Amino acid sequence: MFGSIAALCAYAAEHSPFYARTLRPVRSWDDFYSLPILTGDDLRRHVNADGTGDLLTGPTRGSLVVSTSATSGARKIVHREFADQHRVSEGLAMAMRLAGFTADDRIANIFPPGGLLAAWIGAHEAIEKLGATLLPLGTTLPLDVDEQVKLLTCLRPTAIISAPSTLVRLIEGGLPPIPSVLCGGETLSPETRAFMEKALGAEIALVYGNVECGTLGVQCEALRRTQRYHVLARDVFIEIVDPVSGMPANEGEILVTHLHRRIQPLIRYHVGDRVRRVDSPCGCGLALPVIELEGRVEELEVVIGDVSLSADQVVAAVRDVPGIGERFQMRVQCLNKGDQVKILFEGEGASAETVRAALLGREPALRALEDGGALVIEVVKRGAIPTTLAGKTPRIVDERLG
Ligand SMILES: [Zn+2]
Repeated sequence: MFGSIAALCAYAAEHSPFYARTLRPVRSWDDFYSLPILTGDDLRRHVNADGTGDLLTGPTRGSLVVSTSATSGARKIVHREFADQHRVSEGLAMAMRLAGFTADDRIANIFPPGGLLAAWIGAHEAIEKLGATLLPLGTTLPLDVDEQVKLLTCLRPTAIISAPSTLVRLIEGGLPPIPSVLCGGETLSPETRAFMEKALGAEIALVYGNVECGTLGVQCEALRRTQRYHVLARDVFIEIVDPVSGMPANEGEILVTHLHRRIQPLIRYHVGDRVRRVDSPCGCGLALPVIELEGRVEELEVVIGDVSLSADQVVAAVRDVPGIGERFQMRVQCLNKGDQVKILFEGEGASAETVRAALLGREPALRALEDGGALVIEVVKRGAIPTTLAGKTPRIVDERLG
């Protein structure tokens, strides 16, 4: 493992001006662990869709260009060589096998090709690798629920791969049961899972990954109904670091070093997810390490359209409102009509109207959200905002597509 990581770092430092500036020679694990962390902002500033950007190691031909969702601010661009795209697909094929998909299945791929593009291509290729029958569905957004449900009812898939939110809408539109289900691209709450499993008559398996890194983790049968995943250690090297000290930890934030990608190397990339290492061996017998996904790292600000709002701005705006406490939470959701931010304040004796007036008085840009119905303010009683097991109350919870 160390040899391939050292070789990756040497290649990146030699061919990418960005890494030439930021990396130091890697002769030991200590050298590697002291390298700087690569952030999403680094990708935004040093990689462009036209193949320019000093993080890239050379010409980008023989690759595909994908971007992260635009709802979470500026897009991150990722150049992924075809050989690496095939590894993403192999990871998805493994996830499908573990989900119970076989060559006898007719598998509907309903990742939206206009949204989760890389996932759609990966699922397409994975079904081919499985030797199963492919039903290439999925529409560009917005989703035409009626048409998709009609198609699925007619084509009668025996298995389906989808983002959970898409599947929920199709279920609400009358989707008939499907025996095998694999979901990815979003987190899945226990309530949503229960709703989906009841409606579909199937246990849902998950796959963990993202646009930047590709497929990261798969779920065997023993890990279903948990947030645990087997890490695809052949493709990625994963570190878990303490968010404060940056030191290796059993629980903390995940960093990914992609072992194969060369056009746009990812070295100690900060994915933005909180994870925990699971040391007990998995009952399935797979020799791949297991991590448990605990959620997203707290975001620093909410971006909806052209408007951004940080937690600190909210604190400043409501500081002098009587009866409003320290605890609040901004929840960003993707609704049918667009993104919405709901801000919950804990307090007694203050009305939502008073808080709204204070907030809009201090942050006039929020009026655009308010006018569009995208800003909701509620005052709840003390203790009503849930606390995590670690005793934290995230001030921003972004529930949109990552
Ligand atoms: Zn397992």
